[in-house]
Amino acid sequence: MTPNSHSCHLWGSGRVSWWVPSPIAALIVALLAVASGCAEGMSADDETTETTTVSTSENFEAGTKTIYTAAAVTLGSGTWNLTDALIGTTSSDVKAGVKSGRIRNSGHLTMGFDRSTGAGTVTIHHASFGSDASGTWGLFASQNRGTSWAQVGTSRTTRSGALATATFTVNLAGTIRFEIRKLDGGANRINIDDIAITNFTGGGGGGGGSGSGVSVHTTLGIPSPASATDPNAFLSVKADYVVSYNSGRKVPNWVSWELNSSYLGSVARQDDFRPDDTLPSTLPQASLADYMNSGFDRGHMCPSADRTLTTTANSQTFYLTNMVPQAGNNNRGPWAVLEDECRAIAQTGKELFIIAGPVFSSKSGMLGSGLSVPDKTFKVIVVLDAVGQGPANVTASTRVIAVMMPNADSQISVTADWRNFRVSVDAIEAVTGDDFLSDVDPAVQAVVEARVDSQ
Ligand code: MN
Ligand code: MN
Repeated sequence: MTPNSHSCHLWGSGRVSWWVPSPIAALIVALLAVASGCAEGMSADDETTETTTVSTSENFEAGTKTIYTAAAVTLGSGTWNLTDALIGTTSSDVKAGVKSGRIRNSGHLTMGFDRSTGAGTVTIHHASFGSDASGTWGLFASQNRGTSWAQVGTSRTTRSGALATATFTVNLAGTIRFEIRKLDGGANRINIDDIAITNFTGGGGGGGGSGSGVSVHTTLGIPSPASATDPNAFLSVKADYVVSYNSGRKVPNWVSWELNSSYLGSVARQDDFRPDDTLPSTLPQASLADYMNSGFDRGHMCPSADRTLTTTANSQTFYLTNMVPQAGNNNRGPWAVLEDECRAIAQTGKELFIIAGPVFSSKSGMLGSGLSVPDKTFKVIVVLDAVGQGPANVTASTRVIAVMMPNADSQISVTADWRNFRVSVDAIEAVTGDDFLSDVDPAVQAVVEARVDSQ
């Protein structure tokens, strides 16, 4: 592990936040670091709060390569092969510290070594070189020592003037190496810096890849790390939705699902509320008794009425891992009307990706055996034009509906309009720590996540 050269952030512990927008800002950060002992870096356009261990990092500070001709170079993390690429040190190279990778034409930066611990996420800082036109690049992974490669997530486009953060959800176990490829083929040059790769910590259902590799229900990304080994972020991939389950609170952290007309039929509501028998028996769960006479509804996150094609699908929504204690005025009021609205949109042929969950604070209450009661409930709804679309189809004009509703009958009327509770996705990310739509281009996320729906 290599410490960043210009500040005192420690890799591998706490919040990693080292994006620097320009050499001038780098200098300011360095000066602040000297003045205060340690400075927080600028946050990126993609406001991921990294808390996982950064197990490989590469900031290019240790290497020297001044010509584009293909050659190997020894860097802090190991040997890399740079083709039509060099290590830039000029004032036109956008960088943190004094060096960054620079690629032209169809060049690439390729790891000449393998990681044995897989990869969870990869973050990479990128920018256009100097005043060059923007470039398009992609991250590729190989699980057979470089024999064959597969692209991870979507291609990204550089901007001039400042490093931006690209985040890729990989979730692949075992032997893996990466390559960063310039894809547009043009003579314009791009800079790459601060590559950080986290360990793979387990995935659900044996799935791999990005959000879409885990399930169609997480096509737009995994909102926060979840795994088959974390009791407070237990990833359960079901046929009809994906849940990150928190056994400390006995409710989901989030539930994510796809909705389109193919899920809508005429099956009756099964009403078979029960603990989730697909979870390990060692994980604490809520019981029906916890909800009984509590004053709170058993509030579905993925609604029963979104799954009416088969009795099996409908029954799956009645697992208590898909529920939170929900105030009746919320659950049966604006929350339910918004659920209806989503199905009406789906029936017009649209593709919806929906994430819902609870919001907690230090004042949150508890029921029964330790079932936490959220202060609010949130929902994020992305409306795509056609069934089968994914992250690449989300654009700056894509409709994204986000709401946060109070979870106390005294704070919300059963007749209130759901539109009154609209917020930005950024506002929900700020209180939950999640990163929604994480497989969508960060530049697009920045636009759609800051906007409040007004349709
Ligand atoms: Mn409900
Ligand atoms: Mn996001």
